[in-house]
Amino acid sequence: MNKDSFYNNLSNIFDKPNIKTDVSNKEKYRNDWATRFDSDPVAIVFPKELEQVIDVVKLCNEFNYPLIPSGGRTGLSGGASALSNELIVSFDKMNKILDFDESSSTVLCQPGLITQNLQSFAKNNDLYYPVDFSSSGSSQIGGNIATNAGGIRVIKYGSTSQYVAGLDVVTGNGHHLSLDDMLIKNATGPDIKNFFIGSEGIYGLITSCRMRLIKKPDETKVVLIGFNEISSLDEISKLILKFDVEAIEFFTKNSLDQVKKEFKNIDTHHLGNDYYIIIELHDQKGFTEDLEKIYHAKLAKEIIISSNNSQKESIWQYRLLISESISRSSPIKFDVAVPVKNITRLINELQKLFKKNEFYNLILFGHLGDGNLHINVLKNTENLKSKDISSIQKNIYSIIFKLGGTLSAEHGIGANKMKAFMAYENKIKIEIIQNLKRYFDNNKILNPGKLVE
Ligand SMILES: Cc1cc2nc3c(=O)[nH]c(=O)nc-3n(C[C@H](O)[C@H](O)[C@H](O)COP(=O)(O)OP(=O)(O)OC[C@H]3O[C@@H](n4cnc5c(N)ncnc54)[C@H](O)[C@@H]3O)c2cc1C
Repeated sequence: MNKDSFYNNLSNIFDKPNIKTDVSNKEKYRNDWATRFDSDPVAIVFPKELEQVIDVVKLCNEFNYPLIPSGGRTGLSGGASALSNELIVSFDKMNKILDFDESSSTVLCQPGLITQNLQSFAKNNDLYYPVDFSSSGSSQIGGNIATNAGGIRVIKYGSTSQYVAGLDVVTGNGHHLSLDDMLIKNATGPDIKNFFIGSEGIYGLITSCRMRLIKKPDETKVVLIGFNEISSLDEISKLILKFDVEAIEFFTKNSLDQVKKEFKNIDTHHLGNDYYIIIELHDQKGFTEDLEKIYHAKLAKEIIISSNNSQKESIWQYRLLISESISRSSPIKFDVAVPVKNITRLINELQKLFKKNEFYNLILFGHLGDGNLHINVLKNTENLKSKDISSIQKNIYSIIFKLGGTLSAEHGIGANKMKAFMAYENKIKIEIIQNLKRYFDNNKILNPGKLVE
């Protein structure tokens, strides 16, 4: 492969302002939120239309040159990160809404559309796009589809896959597939677009997508429950999960302490418990009575109910700022899920594992209703060896698998979890993913070193 000649050919596809090779752009685009690789991408290119995406993929095939699809780079598994000298294809400039079909409440979007902009578009049309998380102001719809993003409202509305009505992709072989038929029903074999949802950019580049919007939900309120015994969690969840909740989230005192430390303007002085749950729901008969039951049975020490939108936002901030509050400390990250009935056991076992180890600070938070816990291990010392870190991984994964769980609930595998995924995942599933990779990307130019070997 001739890198110089490859680079020269890029200028036949992109004009100068849309090929970046300077240090600051390389610095900006070579990593996602979770990685600090010291890689040196050959360039970052910014397609504005489908033809440029097709041409650049064809060029990469011709030169056998690896390419990385790059969205908002909010990923937490190194999926969009460059590992060596790959070409980065950023969708930052394909970021528009192309069409709105009122009859089906679907929006045709370019892949670089910021998630929050789709949420706002829905709101302005008296509709709702329910996929939501704290990075939605920076993540892109294409990245959300490629990771099948979940978030705080999965318990009621499901993940991104439920909202993908149609897709256009350019496969690793350079073929353009239009998988957007505008049909609500189509029983002509498997739905091919689903292969690309959650495929972390290893089969194809998403070049447009048709997203479903839904009816706006009723007004909601937000409740914060604080408690000190983890044994109360099952009882509280049992009472709460009888109701039609929009979200039910969990975090620990350690998590809140981090928010307190990093965001001085967040007022937490009145909060003094070891564990918290946040619930969002619309008014329902019997809910207040059940909250009273929880309080009188001494399952909870503290219950706060929002009475206006600003209080709702304040309560949510405690939970939504946790990821940002720990990001500078480069935590060892896990994004696991277990069956909901095993979540208390999971928390208990993790706390036992870290109890006597002063080298680490264990930060636990996550989507309680989905059994999805984000485990972040902060290092209290710089002197940890890689063997200490791999022993933490081994111990955590052994707990997860004993409880019937998965090593990634929503952040995906990327570069960071590929080895563990290859080691622990069902061999038939790995083989199917690899065979599809061969089918869609014969020269293996797309996102090498991610998801599967
Ligand atoms: C503070 C914070 C909170 C978060 N909370 C959540 C959460 O609650 N739930 C959740 O699911 N995630 C969460 N995330 C993770 C992240 O926001 C999601 O994974 C998101 O979907 C990534 O979108 P992105 O545009 O940033 O993708 P990127 O990080 O740029 O890329 C992610 C993957 O998608 C591929 N890709 C990107 N664009 C395309 C395209 N057009 N075609 C093909 N492949 C593409 C990349 O190659 C990569 O493999 C959080 C992240 C942060 C920083």
